[in-house]
Amino acid sequence: MTAKIIDGKAFAADVRARVAKHVARVKDESGITPGLAVVLVGEDPASQVYVRSKGTMTVETGMNSYEHKLNADTAEADLLALIDKLNGDPAVHGILVQLPLPGHLNEDLVINSIDPAKDVDGFHISNVGLLGTGQKSMVPCTPLGCLMMLRDHHGSLSGLDAVVIGRSNIVGKPMAQLLIKDSCTVTVAHSRTKDLPGTVRRADIVVAAVGRPQMVPGDWIKPGATVIDVGINRIEAPERGTKEDGSVKTRLVGDVDFDSCAAVAGAITPVPGGVGPMTIACLLANTLTACCRANGLEEPQGLTA
Ligand code: NDP
Repeated sequence: MTAKIIDGKAFAADVRARVAKHVARVKDESGITPGLAVVLVGEDPASQVYVRSKGTMTVETGMNSYEHKLNADTAEADLLALIDKLNGDPAVHGILVQLPLPGHLNEDLVINSIDPAKDVDGFHISNVGLLGTGQKSMVPCTPLGCLMMLRDHHGSLSGLDAVVIGRSNIVGKPMAQLLIKDSCTVTVAHSRTKDLPGTVRRADIVVAAVGRPQMVPGDWIKPGATVIDVGINRIEAPERGTKEDGSVKTRLVGDVDFDSCAAVAGAITPVPGGVGPMTIACLLANTLTACCRANGLEEPQGLTA
């Protein structure tokens, strides 16, 4: 079997187009422009790149983007004061604090200071609780993107056996909650799981969110299963030669061994170009959803859980 490649890049472009269409409608009908505020503390280069592309795509979908860049040594009280101001700003419908934060800042305290209705990352403890009890919430972007691709591929997920590898608060656990909500039978595997290959082999759906390059080989995959690879890992790629400074060039790989898994699976997401682009698209969708909920407007269809 050769798997269908789920094109996350094209899927994300479609989601962004649907967001843009609904944003135009919201503006037309209510005069309101959805707005996303992104707070970046420090100069981490990867975070700067993420924040820049989030800002560009926010504007491209017709929404307002507000960037707040703070020094790495910003006091916690100052960050909390900024969040408090954004919570009270009617032009801001979504607030995202770029993680990780510098070590002197308490991430839980900061995240839980965001108004849950504006918590477009879905990390606030209220949203975690709402999702866990199957209620309407803001849903974390990466698992939401995975869910959208799974629903698109399968139609109904009801009754399917799903294995999520990884139990982090930002990917593994919310992914499992979403799959439970869609009536899958869900197993959450982690570093202490006794028989990971045997566990994965039972799954109709495998979501790998581990952070270990190419850890899942094809012989763990049930023929025809759908494989969603969340991992983003940079590895040395000697076949690409060397950089100017003499170091070996690198490339991105996921948590699954793409070639061997694609030979067995029914469908698979590539890295790059799979889950990654969907994460930002879902952030934009969440901002629009938050704006609609805050203003009693019709929510976009098919863009949340
Ligand atoms: P975490 O490090 O927070 O969690 C990793 C999980 O993997 C843990 O639950 C850990 O288990 C489990 N794990 C580690 N080693 C093994 C093993 N040998 N066997 C089974 N389970 C194992 O990572 P995140 O959830 O934050 O991210 C996971 C990956 O997804 C990373 O590569 C990250 O870069 C990527 N990512 C991609 C995003 C995207 O937009 N595409 C967004 C967010 C993350 P335990 O709990 O027992 O330690």
